[in-house]
Formats: sequence, C-alpha cells, structure tokens
Amino acid sequence: MNPSRKPLIAANWKMYKTVAEAVSFIKSIQEETGPCADLEVVIAPPFTALKAVGDNLTQQGFSLAAQNCHWEEKGAFTGEVSPIMLSDLGCNYVIVGHSERRQLFGETDETVRRKAAAVLAAGMVPVVCVGEVLEQREQGKTFEVVGRQVEGALSGLSARQAELLVIAYEPVWAIGTGRTATAAQAQEVHALIRKTLAALFNKEVEKKGRILYGGSVKPDNIDLLMAEPDIDGVLVGGASLEVGSFKRLVQFKS
Ligand code: PEP
Repeated sequence: MNPSRKPLIAANWKMYKTVAEAVSFIKSIQEETGPCADLEVVIAPPFTALKAVGDNLTQQGFSLAAQNCHWEEKGAFTGEVSPIMLSDLGCNYVIVGHSERRQLFGETDETVRRKAAAVLAAGMVPVVCVGEVLEQREQGKTFEVVGRQVEGALSGLSARQAELLVIAYEPVWAIGTGRTATAAQAQEVHALIRKTLAALFNKEVEKKGRILYGGSVKPDNIDLLMAEPDIDGVLVGGASLEVGSFKRLVQFKS
C-alpha cells in the first residue's frame, strides 16, 4: 500500500447469509474492530440483506456495497436492480464485472463499461473486477487480457470519474481455489494497471486510483499482499464470511 491512498478491505458475500446471519455478523465485526479511521471496510451482502446491513452499519469506516446492478435507471427488466435503487438503500459501492458474473451470467467488457458508468452517474463508486483465467496466464497473455478489460470498462469516463473508481485485480484461477497469486505476481499486474490508468487518463488518476487484489486472500497472506506498493486493499470472498478471519483481514499489518 501507499499511504497516499486509503486502504480498502471489501467483503463479497456472494449468495451467502440470510438477513439474520448478515445482521449478526455486522454487529459482531463492528464490535470486534471498533472504529476504522484509517481504512475503509466495505460489505457487499446479497441484495436481500442490503437494507438490514445498511441499517446496522454504525461504526466509523464501514460502508455498504452491492454485488451487481443493471445500467438503466428503470424499466421493464424483470429481476434487475438499478443503481438508483441501490443508492436509495445507502450503497456507496457496487461491484461490477466479477468473474462469476462474466463466466456464469454472460457479462462482457461492454456491459461492465455500461454498469460502471451508471454506478458513477448515480453517485456511487464502481469496483470493477478484472483478471485472467489460468490458460491465459499460462500463455503469457495476462497483461494483454487485463489491459484490455481495464480499457474496455473505463472507456468514455472522465479523468475525475476514473480517479474515483476502484479496480479489483482478481486472477480467476485464484478465486475460491485456495491458490493465491504471490504478492510479487499481484504487484506486477497492479503496476501494469496503474500504467494503463496513466495512459488512458493522466498522472493524477495513476497516482490516486485504488487497485484491490482478490483471490483466496486469507489471514496468512494479507500482510504480504498489503506490503506491495500498488496494492491498495483486497476484495475477499471466502475469508469474509467468518468474523474471526475477516477481523484479521481488517487488522492487516503493513
Ligand atoms: C471474490 O469472490 O471476489 C473472491 C476473491 O473470492 P475468494 O476470496 O473466496 O477467492
């Protein structure tokens, strides 16, 4: 991490936790950590628990995220939820383009771009997920794939918007597999993303843009990851579901 950027620890709960389970977790974790003045802790519960979690986020530094949205404000889109509806519920962040959505629900760079723009237009911050699959890494295509995803998702945004947005580098082969990228592997790609931000926008975006790492982040690897200069935080699935492990992530040592 670099002290000029506020660290962000984000929990992606995917399709886990009922409302009662979510509220119980939120109460416990806030009690355990106390106020978080120097970092942001972002919780992304399923849609069904957004309201209840938001109502119980009282500790300094904690905020609410959704895991997905549609790009339109409203309309005949059965089953979809718009950015305005999420902002109305108190969300500050929306995850877009998670690899599970790209792989299982047909998301493309173009839908990710539309969603990111819509989230910004609604006054929230998109967390744009990018990352290569194992085959692409083995073929030496990681930079090409990630560079293309970043360009695709951010095209058409102003420098000011790009500065606000958060990018999450999540190598697909590391998500939910227990196989983490080494800190050096992650840093290498984060540095590439930062250079891409400079090329697409300017030095200010390169300096201020926050880039998270995601992929089997656990209590035993977070400190090494957070020690890298271009890793500004983490997006966590599995280890964000238990209070004990998530507390240790929030209390990473850099
Ligand atoms: C994720 O869902 O974004 C993720 C990184 O999951 P896990 O931490 O379980 O690999």
